[in-house]
Amino acid sequence: SSGGGSARRAERVQVVVRCRPMLVKENAEGRNNCVLVDTVGSTIQVKNLKQPEQEPKLFTFDKTYDATSTQKQLYDDVAHPIVHSVMCGYNGTVLAYGQTASGKTFTMDGLDDPPEMRGIIPQAFEGIFTHIQDSQSSDNFLVRASYLEIHNEEIRDLLATGSQSSSRLELKENVEGNVYVKNLTSITVQSVADISHLLTVGKKSRSVGATLMNQDSSRSHSIFTITVEASARSSSAETDGSMHIRVGKLNLVDLAGSERLNKTGATGDRFRELTNINWSLSALGNVISALVDDKSSHVPYRDSKLTRLLQDSLGGNTRTVMIANIGPADYNYDESVSTLRYANRAK
Ligand code: ADP
Ligand code: MG
Repeated sequence: SSGGGSARRAERVQVVVRCRPMLVKENAEGRNNCVLVDTVGSTIQVKNLKQPEQEPKLFTFDKTYDATSTQKQLYDDVAHPIVHSVMCGYNGTVLAYGQTASGKTFTMDGLDDPPEMRGIIPQAFEGIFTHIQDSQSSDNFLVRASYLEIHNEEIRDLLATGSQSSSRLELKENVEGNVYVKNLTSITVQSVADISHLLTVGKKSRSVGATLMNQDSSRSHSIFTITVEASARSSSAETDGSMHIRVGKLNLVDLAGSERLNKTGATGDRFRELTNINWSLSALGNVISALVDDKSSHVPYRDSKLTRLLQDSLGGNTRTVMIANIGPADYNYDESVSTLRYANRAK
């Protein structure tokens, strides 16, 4: 296809980086800052303080956010445009990437209190229902939510109750080639309160399940999916009065911690977990870089459950943003460089 087509394609996949503030604990330990964020030039520099003769490494992204960035700013810049397009019948995906404790969950969920600490997911809930309320047209909206996690390439339904809650779900493909999760709970919601409740219930199920299986929830990917169906009578120019239905889907993804295998010396179950995480994160990186790459015609969706599941919401007529999260402290230097390289390649 033409260069113009590729440019549009790249525009639909954005990669931004957010560097969180130094934590109280890190300050108490006397950690040094090794990250310099230029929010105007959209660059990040990281300096290896153990090797002062080394030049700092410089990376450029679509946008960068420093320790002073607000939850509202992140939502308005990166998530709001995607929520808007979902309301118009397009699919979209927001992904949070980074090592454990880099700020993924802070960015996606945030804190309940005070309200300005709420992350992208609760702000998206507000955005969707505000859009519905403000909608001047005669559109009827149906909003549904589902919530799942992928651990060791197995899918668990976070909204299932009773005996269903621990069962493993399967990925299926329908005749049109669309991938779906068989038997996944999908709940219709009428309000911000309804959908917020589902997030709370699902998070609880996630942590209970993790504890039961002696796991850490940062070892799984979680995907909160909101499907918005809008039906409208055709405009007056058309006289048949038939219904038109648009369906948009928003995937809000908190990825498993990206820390690498070699450094942790993991064995047994931990080794298997990390191998699966590394595998699926690299499959995701390959898909996103193929989508951004002008020359690439093959997008390797099939390589992992995560990318298969997100197939209809990554690429094509959809919008995707990856938020790569890093911490500023020097003891995270290696992992931060690895995150920036991953994100840079995805860009
Ligand atoms: P992750 O989900 O990547 O493991 P968390 O989101 O749990 O990391 O963040 C780790 C810690 O850092 C938490 O205590 C969180 O509240 C804090 N934190 C992360 N990002 C920020 C931020 N932008 N501003 C303030 N605190 C943050
Ligand atoms: Mg987390």
